[in-house]
Amino acid sequence: MSELDDVLASMQEGVVVIDAQGRVTHWLGASGRLLGWSADQARGRHFDDLLDPNDANGNRTCVWPGASEYRMRTIKGSPEREMSVTTKSGKRVWVGVTTGVRRQPSGSVVAATAVLRDIRRRKQIDTTKSEVILAVAHELRSPLTSVKGFTSTLLHRWDRFDDADKKRLLQTINTDVDRVTRLIGELLDVSRLEAGRLTLNRRMVRINDIAAGVVDRLRPRARAHRIDCVFPEQFPQVSADSDKIEQVLTNLVENAVKYTPGGAIQVVGSVHDSSVWIEVSDEGAGVSAEHKKTVFAKFFRVGANASPGSGLGLYISKGLVEAHGGRIWVENNQGGGAVFTFTLPLIEESVEKVSGQS
Ligand code: ADP
Repeated sequence: MSELDDVLASMQEGVVVIDAQGRVTHWLGASGRLLGWSADQARGRHFDDLLDPNDANGNRTCVWPGASEYRMRTIKGSPEREMSVTTKSGKRVWVGVTTGVRRQPSGSVVAATAVLRDIRRRKQIDTTKSEVILAVAHELRSPLTSVKGFTSTLLHRWDRFDDADKKRLLQTINTDVDRVTRLIGELLDVSRLEAGRLTLNRRMVRINDIAAGVVDRLRPRARAHRIDCVFPEQFPQVSADSDKIEQVLTNLVENAVKYTPGGAIQVVGSVHDSSVWIEVSDEGAGVSAEHKKTVFAKFFRVGANASPGSGLGLYISKGLVEAHGGRIWVENNQGGGAVFTFTLPLIEESVEKVSGQS
């Protein structure tokens, strides 16, 4: 191997040289790794027949710049075009292709070089973004459709409703508006977390007091449940943003209420070597092994979930806990039911402060 071959072999891009008839003459760089064919197998084959390139709409396109539809647009080179091509194993993969063309003074193509980049990751991110936009649009549209429907009903038939009916309709509108406001708040949290713009207003906080407040607030909405807080006496204070921790606890306890028909919900605090652990357990169906990680993903909801929600709560909770230097995960109780646990680091001063108080 010459030094040039070594350099080409170490490239992340595939480099293919094509002759005036569109046949492969050189198959270099990562071409073999990207597309499966060895240089011997590719050489002599027509580039477009070999790869069957398709554009984003699934229509056949071409890489060889001598192909008639492309000739008009190609002068010296082309900007990168994204296309899906067939590998030797028959799989379709996304590549970004830039071509450079050598022409005779008359304009006819002598040879062309195509540089192929693996853009699977970029395409995956694009797909995820579109899915996210779709999910947001859907989540916003359903409460807004209901607000629109109820307001126009009230406006057109105001005189036909008695006060009790009007109050009921207005309450539904109010709940739907709360849902939209909440979703927008969640989306803002997601964007702050992802942009690394989340600011924590840390001070020494008592998680047991925050938990008691959250439970008191949610109890009226959980008539079928028994909710308790179990914290050891003199639970250490931790350096944290109390609003953010309240948001995490609210999400976990609300979920425990929402996803279980009834039974006991417990918020339990414990102290470990260098952190405090907060567990929120319930007596519902729990989270299957398959979904233990994905429940923390953006917009993820298990199956056809009947309860309203955006699938952002746990994603945000994870971001908030991790911003504090903690961890969050879910396990199932032996008797069934989910146990969501998050940890917060216990810094030296907090331990000293509490032991000084006792
Ligand atoms: P949302 O509640 O808006 O769907 P979350 O991110 O808070 O979003 O939760 C994601 C999914 O995790 C829920 O849709 C639900 O399927 C599942 N989940 C969350 N908490 C529990 C729980 N305590 N028990 C069973 N499943 C749960």
